[in-house]
Amino acid sequence: MFKLALLFFCSSAVAGDVKGIRFWQDPEKTRLVFDVSEQVDYKLFTLEDPYRLVVDLQNAKLKTEIDTVDVPQALVKKVRASQSSDKLRVVLDLKRGVSTKDFLLKPYQDYGHRLVIDIRDKNAQKPVVKTASSVIKEKNRDIIIAIDAGHGGEDPGASGKKGTREKNVTLAVAKRLAEKINAQKGYKAFLTRSGDYYVGLEERTRLARNNRADLLVSLHADGFTDSRVKGASVWVLSTRGANSEMGKWLEQREKSSDLLGGVESLQNKDPLVAKVLIDLSMHYSIGESLKAGEEVRKKLASSMPKMHGKGLRKAAFVVLKMPDIPAMLVEMAFISNPEEERLLRTSSQQNKIANAVFSGVQKYFRANAPDGTYIASLGQERSHKVKRGDTLSEIAASYGVSMNQLKKHNKLTSSNLRIGQVLSIPEV
Ligand SMILES: [Zn+2]
Repeated sequence: MFKLALLFFCSSAVAGDVKGIRFWQDPEKTRLVFDVSEQVDYKLFTLEDPYRLVVDLQNAKLKTEIDTVDVPQALVKKVRASQSSDKLRVVLDLKRGVSTKDFLLKPYQDYGHRLVIDIRDKNAQKPVVKTASSVIKEKNRDIIIAIDAGHGGEDPGASGKKGTREKNVTLAVAKRLAEKINAQKGYKAFLTRSGDYYVGLEERTRLARNNRADLLVSLHADGFTDSRVKGASVWVLSTRGANSEMGKWLEQREKSSDLLGGVESLQNKDPLVAKVLIDLSMHYSIGESLKAGEEVRKKLASSMPKMHGKGLRKAAFVVLKMPDIPAMLVEMAFISNPEEERLLRTSSQQNKIANAVFSGVQKYFRANAPDGTYIASLGQERSHKVKRGDTLSEIAASYGVSMNQLKKHNKLTSSNLRIGQVLSIPEV
């Protein structure tokens, strides 16, 4: 069977070099990206028996080694190419029947023209999402924290002089943070992305909502033109836009993220009436975001070498625009500052950031636990029974207190603990 998904060869066909072929794999799709020297005319079609996807690039020349392309094995078995005088044909041998979506992206920042093809399993089942009522019925449910590792895939985010990429650092810290959250009874983490692929900004908030998140924490490490600028900061949504120059600059950068990642439009499709309602309930979530953000900022301030700016920062980030879920964006450091770039790569610093974020989050939820959660059922109980493997520093971090405060409060002379020992947690 032969099916044309798209067919348009312009009369004024242009020649182009294919300088790179890249794949990105995410849980739902395989993304194929061609780096082309100029806007290219192409067509693509699928074939069956065996399953194949054929991409013809008119008047294009292959300028990369097809054998060196890293092929994710989810849907694609192999990629091969054949060159003729008037076209380059790239064939993907597939494991199953697929549906495709293709679009061209114009040059942006370090990237030139790109042809993007998203490939999905034709028969893939949509993941089942729990309905609100089934979640509410659960007694003593976990508090769910959506952790959003900024950037990914086509969008590397900011880079340091040593080549450290923001997308890798955010994912590393996100994973550590998730581990810490999941180890704590009453909390559960959810990652908006778990690998090196791009997720659109609105898609990130949709994922948080579908997973019934009680809070979204978006992790970033920014870059700035002036390499002396450093320090961590915590941002919450402002419906009026940024309250500082740095905020405006970051808002712009965030928007460019979708352009790099290949999301075609940032249009908010909510009708006007819905928008009014959203604005109203946004009021609530902004209030909660301020409280949660401030706790995290305080914890970061006490454990980071430096904070950037004073107090909580405000900007109109798309990823924070949720009427029903409080959210914050944590700039962990400036990757453009050599010292902070070096620190961001270390596991000790990544742990420090994750601990500070989680202890701030816990502090917020201990005072503002949603009804029906295990944390709400604990009330204001402030003691901890030592389990096997517990360390004093971890216990301190999980309650958002310092090790010294914990030691002093319990009159401990060393960091040694016995299993079953009950520690009283100081109020801070
Ligand atoms: Zn970022």
